[in-house]
Amino acid sequence: MSEISPPKYVKAVLKTLNAHEYPACIVGGCVRDAILGVEPQDWDVATGALPAQVMELFPDCIPTGVKHGTVTVRSFGQFVEVTTFRSDGEYADHRHPDKVSFVGDLTADLSRRDFTINAIAVTSEGTVVDPYHGIDDIFSGMIKCVGDPGKRFEEDALRMLRAFRFSSRFGFPIEEKTFCAIREKAPLVFSLSAERIRDELEKILLTSNPEILYTVIDCGLLDGYIDKHLSRDDGLIRIAVLNKKPLVRWALFCMVLLADECIADVRDFLTSLRLDGRTVRCCSDCCDILKVNPPENNVEWKQLLRKYGVDTVECAASCWGAIYEQNFQEILKRIMKSGECFSLHRLAINGNDLISSGFDGKEIGEMLNRLLDIVIEAPEKNTREILLKLASTGIKNS
Ligand code: ATP
Ligand code: MG
Repeated sequence: MSEISPPKYVKAVLKTLNAHEYPACIVGGCVRDAILGVEPQDWDVATGALPAQVMELFPDCIPTGVKHGTVTVRSFGQFVEVTTFRSDGEYADHRHPDKVSFVGDLTADLSRRDFTINAIAVTSEGTVVDPYHGIDDIFSGMIKCVGDPGKRFEEDALRMLRAFRFSSRFGFPIEEKTFCAIREKAPLVFSLSAERIRDELEKILLTSNPEILYTVIDCGLLDGYIDKHLSRDDGLIRIAVLNKKPLVRWALFCMVLLADECIADVRDFLTSLRLDGRTVRCCSDCCDILKVNPPENNVEWKQLLRKYGVDTVECAASCWGAIYEQNFQEILKRIMKSGECFSLHRLAINGNDLISSGFDGKEIGEMLNRLLDIVIEAPEKNTREILLKLASTGIKNS
């Protein structure tokens, strides 16, 4: 294993803490990622200094979670989370510790962490502290709880979903004892908020192995949100083909659940998981679109664009692409690039033009929509002259 060397702005934080006799180290996800050879997204520092002491040493800081010991420090223009070594008290509600104690001791701090691969620290001098043999588990590829898995899941039920998240992200299996405890403790997820479940689910959906959701569901971890378990995982495998964007991945996930009757209504499912309005609307419309075959020509694509809007049709094109193994996104891109009209605001005339031509009230909207029908079928007719002519003859003919 090559030496783990955090960037200059992190080293500076460690150095300042050490200069004031406070122990400090990098810990958690950044150490795990560095060992795996992946660039860490953020570097977390743990220290023996209390939050007030950290704030005194680093006046340019934000007290992001002082109750839990976390202060976000700015160093060379970058942010570093500095968290006081802590141990967690009892977890009566299976989600939050009743009390957090600052312990001044790294070993106790590592013992509260969820998995062995997340419980490794490296001190400022470069000494690796790995009491639970997380490095071995990184190299053999294993998700294993720190301590007794059943107890750890009783403390915080979200860890069961986190186990699947890390398993799917790194392609590591979950150790048998940890997995058996998940099966046993799965009903504890009912104590979790929908938002925390949603965030973990989304992170799993965005990995390269979203088919792990079959097992997540099979274990009962989504029982509060679905009507029955999935009968197969082949639909989920297709999610991995999609861009790593939340919207498309949620959409195809919903489609798979819908097809297997695990959910009856996409809107209800996503709303219960507190997804945002745009995602709920797009996914729900997208699943409606996906019920039929993909369009066979430009006119049909434009009709879809007109009815559902660009975001939703792009989402549907990606899902169809994954289902039929065809590049529908490219077809859609070409149509969008062609500049052909599929919406009222791209029409060569507008309501004011019709008013000037003698139209009134609701006949304006009706005529614009009839003109749009024509232009979608015959893009060359989208000129001011032709449309005004069509409008004047159209109204006479109707
Ligand atoms: P990511 O790269 O996805 O952020 P991470 O390991 O950094 O992965 P975080 O959720 O940012 O995950 O948490 C940082 C560290 O805090 C973890 O590595 C772990 O040591 C600890 N941790 C986070 N959540 C929990 C939890 N629910 N139970 C126990 N320890 C946790
Ligand atoms: Mg992190």
